[in-house]
Amino acid sequence: MDPMTLLLTLSMMAAPARAQPVCLGVGVEGWAPQGAGLIAPPSPTPTDTCWGQQTPGRVTSAHFAVDHDAGVSSSTARRFADALEDAYETLVDQGWPAVRQDDRYLIQAYISEEAGGGAFTSSGTCGNGDGWMPYIVTFQDVFDGTSWAEEMAAHELNHAQQFTMGGGHEDWWWEATATWVQEQVHPRTDGWIDYVDDGYSAQPWLAMQSAGSSDPDRFLHMYGMAIFAFHLEEHVGGADLVRGTWTYTQEVQPSRDLAIFEVLGGMGYDFDAVYRDFVAANATWDYDHSALLAPVVLAGEAAAVPAQGDVSGERAPEPLGQAYVSVEPAALPAATPDLGLTFEGEAGVDWGVWLVGTTGGRVRRVVTVSVGSDGVGEGRLPGAADDDAVFIVASPWSGTARGYAWSWSIEALEALEEDTDSSTTGGDPDHRVTGGRPLDDVGGRCGHAGGAGWLWLGGLVMLRSRRLSG
Ligand SMILES: [Zn+2]
Repeated sequence: MDPMTLLLTLSMMAAPARAQPVCLGVGVEGWAPQGAGLIAPPSPTPTDTCWGQQTPGRVTSAHFAVDHDAGVSSSTARRFADALEDAYETLVDQGWPAVRQDDRYLIQAYISEEAGGGAFTSSGTCGNGDGWMPYIVTFQDVFDGTSWAEEMAAHELNHAQQFTMGGGHEDWWWEATATWVQEQVHPRTDGWIDYVDDGYSAQPWLAMQSAGSSDPDRFLHMYGMAIFAFHLEEHVGGADLVRGTWTYTQEVQPSRDLAIFEVLGGMGYDFDAVYRDFVAANATWDYDHSALLAPVVLAGEAAAVPAQGDVSGERAPEPLGQAYVSVEPAALPAATPDLGLTFEGEAGVDWGVWLVGTTGGRVRRVVTVSVGSDGVGEGRLPGAADDDAVFIVASPWSGTARGYAWSWSIEALEALEEDTDSSTTGGDPDHRVTGGRPLDDVGGRCGHAGGAGWLWLGGLVMLRSRRLSG
C-alpha cells in the first residue's frame, strides 16, 4: 500500500470517502503531505499548514502555503499562491465556503519538480491529529506561461471546497462543477471550452454519469459535463443553483454520493424537464458561449425528406446520454411543412425522444415523442420548414447497457388543420417518467434571459385546443 492510499484509508472516517483524488489533467501521480507531528498550535492568524512545511522551498499567502521542490523556482510558487488566493477571494465572494479548518491552518499546496501535467486535490488526516484538511498538488510543467495554471488553481480550490461541503456527489459532478467554476473565476480565458468540446461534444452518447480514470473518454466526459452546469446556470436557476447542489448535499446527505436527479428532485426541480431542456439546448448550443463551442457530433443526418436511418454501435446512446440526428428543414416542401417522425428503439427501454426546432442558434420548440413499451413512437414537428435547424434526439432515461440502438424514419406532412387536437399530433406533452410539475411551472423554471423565448410545443398545442374547445 503506497503512502497515498494509506493516508486516504486512514482519513476515511473523517474525510469524505473518495476512491481517487479529484484531478485536472491526465497522468497526475499521487503525493501526500507527511505529518511531522512538530507543528505549532494554531494561532489566530494561520502561519503553517496542519502538516508543517513539506519542502525547503515555501511561499505563503493569506490562506495558502505552497511548498515546492528545489527544482521549482520561488517565482513559480508565488504565481501559484497568487492564483489560489485570487480564486479564493472570488469564490468565497460568490458564496462558496472557506476551506475546512483554514481559519486555523494554511491550506497545503505543493508543486513537484517531476515531469507531469495536471493537478489534483485530495484530503488527508492532519499531521498533529487535528482532524483533516484538503490539499492541492501540481507540477511545475503546468506553469508554462499560458493562463491554464490560473484556471487550474480555481478548479482545484473548488475541489477543496467540495471536500469541505461533504462531497456528497457522484464523481462526474465534482469535475463538471469545478470545470464550470473556471469560468466563474476567469471569465475571459475560456480554458474550459476544450474540455466541453473533447469531453462532451465529441461523444454526447456517453452516459451523463460516466466516470473513471482508466477510460480516457469517460475521464474526459466528466469535465465535458461542465455544460450541464452551464445549463443549470443559464436556463434553470443561475449560478446559485450550481453551488446550491453542493449546499444541498452538505445539509441533507454528505456521506453518500447522490445522483444528480436525486439532488435536483430533492431541491424541488423536475429533473425530467431540466434534462429535456438540456438536451434541446445542446442541439444548437443555446448558451452564452455558443460561438466558441464545437457542435455536438451527430449520430445521423438527413439532407432529404423522406429519409430513414439507424443509430447503433458506438453512437447508440447510453442512459442519459444523447444521440442527435439532424434534419435539413429546407428539404421540406412548402406544401408539406410538418416533419413526421417514426421512432423504433429497443423494446422495454424507457426512451426519451424529442423533436427540437431551432432558430438563430436558439431552441424554438421541443416536442416530446411518446414511445410505447414496444419501443415504437410517432411525433410531429409542425412548421419544421420554418426552423433554421431541426434535430431528432434520443436518450434512454435509465438502463445498464453501454448503448441502445434505434432507428428513425421521417416524412413531410401537410400542416394540421387549426381545429386538430393534441391527440393527433403524435406528441405527448405530458410524458413524464417520474412525475413532474405542471407546464406552467416548467416554464417558470426555464425562464431566463437566454432561453425564455423557446416554447414547449406540446404545451402550445394543448393551450390551443383548450381555447378552441372552450
Ligand atoms: Zn478536477
